[in-house]
Amino acid sequence: DSNKPVFAFRDTPRQMPARIPLELRQGGDWGELYGRFGEAEAKHQSGRCLDCGNPYCAWKCPLHNYIPRWLELAREGRVHEAAALAHETNPLPEVCGRVCPQDRLCEGSCTLNDGFGAVTIGAVEKYIVDRALSEGWRPDLSRVAATGKRVAVIGAGPAGLSCADRLARAGIEATVFDRYEQIGGLLHFGIPSFKLEKSVLATRREVLEGMGVQFRLGVEIGRDVSLDALLVEFDAVFLGLGSYRYTDGGLPGQDLKHVLPALPFLVHNGRLVHGDDAAHAKPIAGWEDHIALPDLRGKRVVVLGGGDTGMDCVRSAVRLGAARVTCAYRRDEANMPGSVREVANAREEGVQFLFNRQPLELIGDEAVTGVRVAETRLGEPDARGRRNAEAVPGSESVLAADVVIIAFGFQPDPPAWLSAHGIALEDNGRIRVTQAAGGCSSRRRGNADDSVPYQTSHPRVFAGGDGVRGADLVVTAAYEGREAAAGIVKLLLG
Ligand code: FAD
Ligand code: SF4
Repeated sequence: DSNKPVFAFRDTPRQMPARIPLELRQGGDWGELYGRFGEAEAKHQSGRCLDCGNPYCAWKCPLHNYIPRWLELAREGRVHEAAALAHETNPLPEVCGRVCPQDRLCEGSCTLNDGFGAVTIGAVEKYIVDRALSEGWRPDLSRVAATGKRVAVIGAGPAGLSCADRLARAGIEATVFDRYEQIGGLLHFGIPSFKLEKSVLATRREVLEGMGVQFRLGVEIGRDVSLDALLVEFDAVFLGLGSYRYTDGGLPGQDLKHVLPALPFLVHNGRLVHGDDAAHAKPIAGWEDHIALPDLRGKRVVVLGGGDTGMDCVRSAVRLGAARVTCAYRRDEANMPGSVREVANAREEGVQFLFNRQPLELIGDEAVTGVRVAETRLGEPDARGRRNAEAVPGSESVLAADVVIIAFGFQPDPPAWLSAHGIALEDNGRIRVTQAAGGCSSRRRGNADDSVPYQTSHPRVFAGGDGVRGADLVVTAAYEGREAAAGIVKLLLG
């Protein structure tokens, strides 16, 4: 395009959308941190793309989005076409634009990282889709013919929603079941509203319903409806169950008062933030012992763990008025799993980071008063290349704390009814499927051979997302839901 300014990448600095002012965040504002680009900003930022011949960003994006193409459409102001193209590969583009750790994925691979600053890919993705949807654009299914096939999707998290989206596009009727009353899975109940406003999910639900997807919410499979019943009513079933078994680390003292697991803490906050005043009285399935949350105002809060969940906890504690919030992590900053951007935001909001600290024990009589920690140094890399933290003898100290939140991560917790139906599991509890998890690093499109991707050991049952991969990312769950739908289409339609 001869109208495209050749030196925009150099002359226009990388710019993220404006953020909520710091004092409001520290004063308890739960609104989405980043605002939205205006049209001019979106055009300028999109125009920085070099349109590399072999775009690393698209390779690194687990969904292999056509990033340079929709950036170009955004630059030209063709927002509806950009949104249509974004949906070609990504069933939840406005969600991923908000919550993907772009610094590790698409933006981390942008050629402009070489001194100029990556294109703001996620923020443009959010802009394109938010704007197109608000202007009434919807996926065009007018050429899709109904096949008469019906599929039950268990779980309305990103894996299940993505699977349902792709099935609808193939003319297969998808019915999504979830034990909760809202769609989104962890998008709704785990990720705080300062990263993802919940109105985004309400819009996505309306989009999916417009595509013919049906929701049966507040229904738990295995309790209210059996898998057998679904296999009679539907041609195939997709399992997008997530991964919810909490890793507590087995620390002495973890039963002390005011020691909280991360997810119930976030879920209860989320409910309160969204005006559910009775939230404290509502147990979360499997977390019945953790109903009452302490008031954090003026308290010293220590969060153990350095992943996305840990970052959400520290930043929630800031908004809840804690006097001091500390994140203790056993490796160094470079080895922290949390997104670099989220760590920077937390630091700006006043969170203190203590790296190379291994928790040994939670101390206190009735309620917790501190965490005994040891300093660590990094040892040899393990099989996955990560260097293990080793405690340095004689380096112990105590971090004073009124509240401790444990955010060590989650393991799959497969329900018993899976094995009753001959659905095989891996040793670590993940659901076994035909396509190895992690396949999203390749640019595979469909299967040339006879194999059916994401099929479990039951031929009519498919699975994907955290229940298959273990706790991971929204974008990888979306990828697996999308690919499992391709497997179901292959099974049902050939
Ligand atoms: P889930 O989102 O867990 O959804 C599973 C759904 O299945 C749930 O709604 C559940 O109710 C339903 N279900 C399970 N069993 C049944 C049953 N028997 N009957 C009916 N329904 C059932 N990822 C990012 O990319 N960026 C982030 O910033 C980020 N932040 C995170 C913050 C927190 C606090 C947490 C916990 C995770 C975060 N993640 C983040 C990870 C991300 O949320 C997950 O990887 C993703 O949601 C997994 O999607 P899923 O569809 O596999 O499972
Ligand atoms: Fe980047 Fe995530 Fe969007 Fe892919 S889905 S382009 S990784 S923000």
